Amino acid sequence: MRPALESIRGYRPGRSVAASGAQGGSVYKLSSNENPFPPLPGVLERALAGAGGINRYPDLACGELVHELAEYLGVPTSHIATGTGSVGVTQQLLQATAEPGDEVLFAWRSFEAYPVLTRIVGADSVRVPLTTGAVHDLDAMASAITERTRLVFVCNPNNPTGTIVRRAELERFLDRVPPDVLVVLDEAYIEFVRDGDFPDGIEVYRSRPNVCVLRTFSKAFGLAGLRVGFAVAHEPVAAALRKTAVPFGVSRFAQDAAVAALQADGPMRERVAALVAERDRVSAALTEQGWAVPPSHANFVWLATRERTAAFAQACEDEGVLVRAFDGEGVRISIGERTANDRFLFAAERFHKETVR
Ligand code: PMP
Repeated sequence: MRPALESIRGYRPGRSVAASGAQGGSVYKLSSNENPFPPLPGVLERALAGAGGINRYPDLACGELVHELAEYLGVPTSHIATGTGSVGVTQQLLQATAEPGDEVLFAWRSFEAYPVLTRIVGADSVRVPLTTGAVHDLDAMASAITERTRLVFVCNPNNPTGTIVRRAELERFLDRVPPDVLVVLDEAYIEFVRDGDFPDGIEVYRSRPNVCVLRTFSKAFGLAGLRVGFAVAHEPVAAALRKTAVPFGVSRFAQDAAVAALQADGPMRERVAALVAERDRVSAALTEQGWAVPPSHANFVWLATRERTAAFAQACEDEGVLVRAFDGEGVRISIGERTANDRFLFAAERFHKETVR
């Protein structure tokens, strides 16, 4: 095996109900930023209608989905590349741009797939710490770019802290990035943003050939189990992403479901609005309990529990709520259905009262 793999722990998924050993009763999984709603109207019908065709390969080009996305976003079809979730597209991006000796730059802590996938292609991760407010430090990131930098990830909103960078600071940062360095705006959670100064990557990329926007059907559109995501970028970048894609990676079910999900835009927005309301309710309640909560613009909240992280995660699990713990740093709690959020708030309040004096 390649020595590069020795230092890789592999992608760690959020704790599952089965792994928690919970028996009976209700256990809520708030550990993977999933959408708690069932499939959007029309999605199951459309996806299952193609079930009789599973003896055939799916459309390699994802033609209908790409066409629908181009209309939905107002971009040329040649600027779209699909993949098996946006994590699949992230892998395609790294394979297209980075090799041993190259550097891939991102904030830390951010999406945990970045260092893993960077290592797999043999490139070096350069991690720039978030500010004390848990926000990308774009000035420090610009200063960290070297001649070896090939790719920069800006996770906006950031997983796991939920924070955003705003339009003016992003534009200032992009002005400092050399034109031959690709900047990836990972917008997996964009539909949950309500901030008027948030930079929509689709507007940003139009005038910047070295910007690539990453989106997914896994979060707002509720298709995490089908694995479909996409990039929007100028032609040389999009073409490279099509070359590094796993052939036929996006199944017919995924393509059909994604098309139907796009057509259910109204219901999608209603559900997202409900989750945003819950996010704001949970954030306010945590603040009321005495926690410091970074303002979240995504479908999860972050608590910097530091050395109490494992104990806090266990306290939540004891209440039947699985959260995502980053040892020694903090806990990310996805926004779920109201009863799940209430159960979490109950655990958080008790923990705070017992441990913080
Ligand atoms: N980017 C970010 C920032 C994420 O949090 C996630 C999901 N955890 C992804 C990309 C990947 O999502 P998917 O592969 O399901 O599209």
